[in-house]
Amino acid sequence: MDDRLKSGSLNAVRLAASEGMVGYFSMEIAIEPSMPTYSGGLGVLAGDTLRSAADMGLPLAAVTLVHRKGYFKQILDADGKQTEEPQPWDPAARLPQEEPRVVVTIEGRPVHVRAWRYDMEGVTGHTIPIYMLDTDLEANDPRDRTLTDQLYGGDTNYRLAQEIVLGIGGLRMLDALEYDISVYHMNEGHAALLTMALLEKTLSGGALSSAQERDFDAVRQHCVFTTHTPVPAGHDRFSIEQSERILGREATQTIERIGGCHEGLVNMTYIALRLSRFVNGVAMQHGKVSREMFPEYDIAAITNGVHAGTWTAPAMQATFDKHLPRWREDNMHLRYAIDIPQEEIVAAHADGKRVLLAEVKKRSGIELREDVFTIGFARRVATYKRGDLLFTEADRLARIAQNAGSLQILYAGKAHPADEPGKQIIRHVFEEAHRLSSGSLHIIYLADYEWRLGALLTGGVDLWLNNPLRPYEASGTSGMKAALNGVPSLSVLDGWWIEGCIEGVTGWAIDDRDRAEDEAASLYDKLESKILPLYYQDKQGWRKLMQTTIAMNGSFFNTQRMLEQYVSNAYYPEKKASYSAHLLEQSFAR
Ligand SMILES: *Cc1c(COP(=O)(O)O)cnc(C)c1O
Repeated sequence: MDDRLKSGSLNAVRLAASEGMVGYFSMEIAIEPSMPTYSGGLGVLAGDTLRSAADMGLPLAAVTLVHRKGYFKQILDADGKQTEEPQPWDPAARLPQEEPRVVVTIEGRPVHVRAWRYDMEGVTGHTIPIYMLDTDLEANDPRDRTLTDQLYGGDTNYRLAQEIVLGIGGLRMLDALEYDISVYHMNEGHAALLTMALLEKTLSGGALSSAQERDFDAVRQHCVFTTHTPVPAGHDRFSIEQSERILGREATQTIERIGGCHEGLVNMTYIALRLSRFVNGVAMQHGKVSREMFPEYDIAAITNGVHAGTWTAPAMQATFDKHLPRWREDNMHLRYAIDIPQEEIVAAHADGKRVLLAEVKKRSGIELREDVFTIGFARRVATYKRGDLLFTEADRLARIAQNAGSLQILYAGKAHPADEPGKQIIRHVFEEAHRLSSGSLHIIYLADYEWRLGALLTGGVDLWLNNPLRPYEASGTSGMKAALNGVPSLSVLDGWWIEGCIEGVTGWAIDDRDRAEDEAASLYDKLESKILPLYYQDKQGWRKLMQTTIAMNGSFFNTQRMLEQYVSNAYYPEKKASYSAHLLEQSFAR
């Protein structure tokens, strides 16, 4: 038996003799394009992680909420005013339901929870089960039946109740399904309450108030936590009163006892930090920022990735299949894109661009040109992402399009329903699009950014633009999707781009400046003097850039490399050698 466990009393969660099973918990998971169970980067990352886990044959089971009404569908009127509609979907129409029911206590009421199962299949046929928790049961009080309806909807009471269902309900569900989990991975703080359920198990029925340091330590030996938020305000917090009322007095006191409160509030990040043996940020820079924010913790960095097979456009996939036949099983083969004839990369990308422009025409009625340089900017609309930075000196942008070469700019992104400043940014982009669009400059905002539109954009534009306020971008992943399609980025040096940018080889950096106006000026300079001249006047140079973008960044910024790092550093640090051997054996057996 694992030495670390001898001291603890965690009978039911004993490390399996050969391979420890991972339980992966995430509030949102982008499972399939037709299931509205995610809002943005966090959910897409979770889905991509599971797709790679399935490809690699990792022993893992995932837990999330069913989100019957989804996140929201975005409607934009002619002025860019956003309204929202629910996105109902019916799990019963497509997923099997699991037998067991579990119960959690919310506001003193018992809440029954069931699970729908989705089997995520990998490239070699291995599947990863995803359990989608659901409280819409007749046995429940009407107030509780809607707890698993709306992702990031409702007030903080609703959010805390959802986190009880996810963390505590999720752990009890995995137990009821008789999983023997050795590592619990909390993807962001939303799942932190699973530590309380694990503590209860450790005490085998004893009261939480009786827990000793060795019990906390036993929990800690099983928990891994990934933080995604670079600013304190982004972390989930609840008042003590709220926590005592909804979660219960004893659990709240236990959280206070372990130091899970910060500035007088129950803080999900602190709970997860206190009770995990491994903690990481999601890019090198985010690791540093997190260590500054939480100096008492040893916080590692594992840079995010994207699932290569999912985010490579169909024509580019066919090119990789022809020249790098094992790229799906081993994403590192993308390094050999340096050996793919450049004309084939260009032709595959041109196909992606045609498909994108056809979709733009369908949605907007506007016919854009295939031979005009096209920039993509699509992400969740939040003020720190500075969606309208490109219009800081709008007249300069218009002059660049006139003098250095025509421009087409495609925007997309949803603002959270409660985010008024975010909604204002969308209206501003609409205003500038009306004002500036001319023969040489076209700006279009596409409504309802989601998975499919994201794939079309990253697979079809010529340049991916990203200009958030530093250091707010923990990682960012959409530029990684673009890289797989040979699309370079122009981005501020934050998040993943600090690692991914090789100037003139994989894209360009917007220079670090203190003032937004100066960063915008750097953006214009690069566009005018480097990027547009290369695209319009040096076709050969642009082809080479597309090729090196795939080879350098596609081969690294994928979830397969990322998960291998979780395996070696977080899940089974002491078993690394034997697990690698196991993977190697599997890959030879194929
Ligand atoms: C990839 C993706 C995101 C995350 O992109 P970031 O660059 O991390 O902001 C968000 N939404 C959708 C629909 C995506 O496909």
